[in-house]
Amino acid sequence: MESALAPGMNVMKTFEPPLEELVGRRVSGVRRVGKMPVVEFGDLALLIHLMSAGRLKAFDKRASAKDRASRVLVRLEDGRELQLREFGTKQRAWAKLLPAGAIGEDEMVATLGPEAWPPPPLDAFAAAIDQPRHLHPLLRNQRTIAGIGRSWVDEILWEARLSPFKKGSELDEEETERLHAALHVLGDAIDHYEETIGEQVPDKVPMPLQVHRREGEPCPRCGTTIEAVFFSEHQTNYCPEEQTGGHVLKDRRLSKLLK
Ligand SMILES: [Zn+2]
Repeated sequence: MESALAPGMNVMKTFEPPLEELVGRRVSGVRRVGKMPVVEFGDLALLIHLMSAGRLKAFDKRASAKDRASRVLVRLEDGRELQLREFGTKQRAWAKLLPAGAIGEDEMVATLGPEAWPPPPLDAFAAAIDQPRHLHPLLRNQRTIAGIGRSWVDEILWEARLSPFKKGSELDEEETERLHAALHVLGDAIDHYEETIGEQVPDKVPMPLQVHRREGEPCPRCGTTIEAVFFSEHQTNYCPEEQTGGHVLKDRRLSKLLK
């Protein structure tokens, strides 16, 4: 490690130890907790939250100082650079440099529910989702179950043939089992990426999605037109035939305004 900089104004959520502590160290491991990548440098580790527009990637070339997407730049001695970049105007991605042994105690990590992949045992999953909340926000809540984002929640619910507006506590045993089994969607996605992406990860990785953002297209399973509904500011897509008993759901954002 040659140098470590944080051009992103508010990206670092910790100040002690400073990023310069990484100089002279080696990357000793890369792992994931929930949706957050962790890059280990011996007894220090960088915990990163990409939010929706952040990307973590090693580049052959170093970023220019003018690059406005740069948030954290870790310069390696072989000329490459590990870059946390974020697209769009908002700075939401963040990083924390922590003692490697303290990652588990960080509040973002300590409050995570069980990991969605590999799936938790069925009874632990059933207990986690037994809440009177709609499945769409419930499954995306990292404290309920960790690792599911807004694209994959649509895919998982479609795979399980469950409505995004069904509540966790309303599921019967068979539905809970179906939802638990549908978590394989995440493993399939990882397998897909491992097969299709080589050493250079493109900025926009085509996601193997069946329903998310595919409104107006036929359901790959039954041919019914995929619908979209907004849940607060998030779009969710579903197959009305298989997930909502043939009903096309009202736009919740709109119906809130009309109340
Ligand atoms: Zn369908």
